Amino acid sequence: MSAKIIDGKAFAAKVRAQVAAHVARLKDQHDIMPGLAVVLVGEDPASQIYVRSKGKLTVEVGMKSVEHNLAADTSEADLLALIDALNNDPAIHGILVQLPLPGHMSSDLVINSIDPAKDVDGFHISNVGLLATGQKSLVPCTPLGCLMMLRDHLGDLSGLNAVVVGRSNIVGKPMANLLVRDSCTVTIAHSRTRDIEALCRGADILVAAVGRPEMIRGDWVKPGATVIDVGINRIDAPEKGAGKTRLVGDVHFESAARIAGAITPVPGGVGPMTIACLLANTLTACCRANGLAEPVGLSA
Ligand code: NAP
Repeated sequence: MSAKIIDGKAFAAKVRAQVAAHVARLKDQHDIMPGLAVVLVGEDPASQIYVRSKGKLTVEVGMKSVEHNLAADTSEADLLALIDALNNDPAIHGILVQLPLPGHMSSDLVINSIDPAKDVDGFHISNVGLLATGQKSLVPCTPLGCLMMLRDHLGDLSGLNAVVVGRSNIVGKPMANLLVRDSCTVTIAHSRTRDIEALCRGADILVAAVGRPEMIRGDWVKPGATVIDVGINRIDAPEKGAGKTRLVGDVHFESAARIAGAITPVPGGVGPMTIACLLANTLTACCRANGLAEPVGLSA
């Protein structure tokens, strides 16, 4: 293996420490405590785990954490009324509605009912438009985490060829917009892309956000490229015992790490950065709401 491993777990701990230091200063100097509200509808076990760990880390950095757990059959009107109350609560600076929502609700309607200034997931149509037009916005957490790691590893990204595999609204598209903003030459690949392997081989920066276990192999990677693996896929691991599973990314780590200059592992790469960036976004939103200087290096 020749690639440098980009340690997302350590990087995320560093980001959370920066957030915590800034939160402490806000309290000391302005008597302000950032507040994050997370709304979960239903009892999806994976979502419950995410929400619990978000709450725990929010408290750890010194912020106020509020959790709203609503029954799966909650009406859309009741959810919208809760969001309206949170929009108008001055102690809440960030609102996150855990996705996916139950089928009887419109995710677009619900997300677009969040005050854009409190939309710490960056999914509100206003924030999407602001990012696309290069204006100040709240940026989706996963691509923000990827950008922070890329800047940390490569410094100036200007002029580099970037290929983003995946065009989802939560990862692929905002990632591409962020890379364009940092003056990369960006190509977005997806399921209809022709000769995707050759395209990837031209990338100085290769971001994989596909949801297909180990799809991107080492011979797709340009020698020395920086590879960011967003994928989180659970696959069977009979070698660990009957019925056991393990997590893998969208990149075949072993073969890619022999060719790449640097690579994020799964787990321990992009994943931990996502919650760290949620906390960073909440802090940024709180500073903006109070007309205070934003923390440096914690936003796009
Ligand atoms: P998604 O909404 O399912 O989008 C997947 C994208 O990959 C689509 O644009 C799809 O193309 C493209 N794709 C699918 N098969 C392909 C193929 N064979 N060749 C090329 N492109 C292909 O997924 P997502 O929400 O962006 O998530 C992607 C991965 O990231 C998942 O593994 C997810 O679990 C993970 N994720 C991780 C984090 C984190 O915190 N680390 C956060 C979010 C997501 P089409 O548009 O043409 O269908």
